[in-house]
Amino acid sequence: MPSIFGLRAVAAGLFCLLAGAAIAAPPVPILVYHRFDPSQSGLTTVTTASFTQQLDWLAAHHYQIIPLAQLAQWRDIPSPAVAITVDDGHESVFTQLYPILRQRHIHVTLFVYPSAISRASYALTWPQLAEMVNSGLVDVQAHTYWHPDFRKEKAARSPADYRAFVDMQLVKSKTVLEQRLGISVTMLAWPYGIHDPMLEDAARRAGYTAAFAFAGGQAQPGDDPLAIPRIPVSGWVTLAQFTRLVSP
Ligand SMILES: [Zn+2]
Repeated sequence: MPSIFGLRAVAAGLFCLLAGAAIAAPPVPILVYHRFDPSQSGLTTVTTASFTQQLDWLAAHHYQIIPLAQLAQWRDIPSPAVAITVDDGHESVFTQLYPILRQRHIHVTLFVYPSAISRASYALTWPQLAEMVNSGLVDVQAHTYWHPDFRKEKAARSPADYRAFVDMQLVKSKTVLEQRLGISVTMLAWPYGIHDPMLEDAARRAGYTAAFAFAGGQAQPGDDPLAIPRIPVSGWVTLAQFTRLVSP
């Protein structure tokens, strides 16, 4: 059995290793997708073939796909790592993406605006969301209540009305998702990537601990936790361009 001094030395060594890992944590790309289609591609629609090609490339280059919540805490981050997010709750998340997630056992975070769920013809339904959450492969987080353009709303409303509107968008999206799915919602994706200090303040008050922008390169420790950058992946991105997006 090692002496108490031996144990202390081991503990000190571990501490140095952990501290070193935290300091040296390399940037991590957080990818944003929207829609998936078997054959059509577009600005926000990626074909399932392109997506699986990107996953194959990541696997061949030893990337680990980590849950976004793990990344937001910068704890035990492998290298290289990548996180996958999907905005807006389009029905193709269930019909096209979910089978791929199950097949490859990949974790993604969906940012959805609950006003559309089970209402809009293009959107996911509550039972589909519940099934994906139950699989353990899909985390559902907030994208405000109805995906407003906060710049337009600010211009069109009085200051007091705008503040109330912002609070409603941030609080209602969180409470509705939590109640309908029995989950905890602490992360938010800003619609259109629009955020400012007032919005970040409102997000903090609403109980969000991490919020994500829509551009800005790879995420790293020390980022503003309420404006963490993400990298949109368009359906027009070639595999060569994709590899540049995720490379250090
Ligand atoms: Zn969106």
